[in-house]
Amino acid sequence: MSAKTFVPSPQIWRNKMSFADDIEASLRQKCATLPIDGKSFQRRMARCSLPDCRGMCCYDGVHVDAPTEAAITVIASARRSAFEAMGLALPDAVVVDGFVGDVLSGRKTATRPWAADEAMPGFPTHFERTFCVFRLDDGRCGLQVMAMQDGVHPWAYKPSACWLFPISIRGDVIRICDETNDPSRYEAYKGFVSYTGCGQTCADGAPAAEVFTDELRYLGDLIGRDLIAEVNDQISAKSPPAPDC
Ligand code: SF4
Repeated sequence: MSAKTFVPSPQIWRNKMSFADDIEASLRQKCATLPIDGKSFQRRMARCSLPDCRGMCCYDGVHVDAPTEAAITVIASARRSAFEAMGLALPDAVVVDGFVGDVLSGRKTATRPWAADEAMPGFPTHFERTFCVFRLDDGRCGLQVMAMQDGVHPWAYKPSACWLFPISIRGDVIRICDETNDPSRYEAYKGFVSYTGCGQTCADGAPAAEVFTDELRYLGDLIGRDLIAEVNDQISAKSPPAPDC
């Protein structure tokens, strides 16, 4: 008789995920009073098409805070066989030290090599040919797929920087950066958000406030603010904008 595999029901799993509360508390602490640059949500943008972009924003993994590192480390260990079933053979360490040049930049998800040139014509030349270990071959995020399988919110297990993208909560403002103020642009690196599919200006697109309504609502719900109203008020000039990027 084969041993039974314990597969927790979504609710049991959710209850075991007490670290979700830590992640949300960390977000609230960071964003509860963070100004939002509503005018940056006027730019015309469009959601990327996964068959085209294949999740290019995941090429270098993502930096994570301590609660998120703890969460995804537990998920990767506890659900290893489920990840394997979706095609992801995770390494033992799914979160590692990240570096910009020789300088430690914090903790981030591990990456693996990927022949992006062959699979994705137009892949930015200055992006490394790597991908986050949680990225599936078709560009979907394994953490999001796992959350959906568990019946919790699709973004419940996903690092906030990922589900918010291209919205940024880095620094002292919530905003969407553009080609003129991409914060990852250095002498030796041309930029990040402005080179990704959904981070670029799209003349045929819609105002970012409309395109990324779901992200604004989810973040607002987590931190107890109506971010959609704050953005719309700024766009209609009812309240002063946040400081410049
Ligand atoms: S955690 Fe998911 S969305 Fe974030 S970089 Fe990795 S594969 Fe991409």
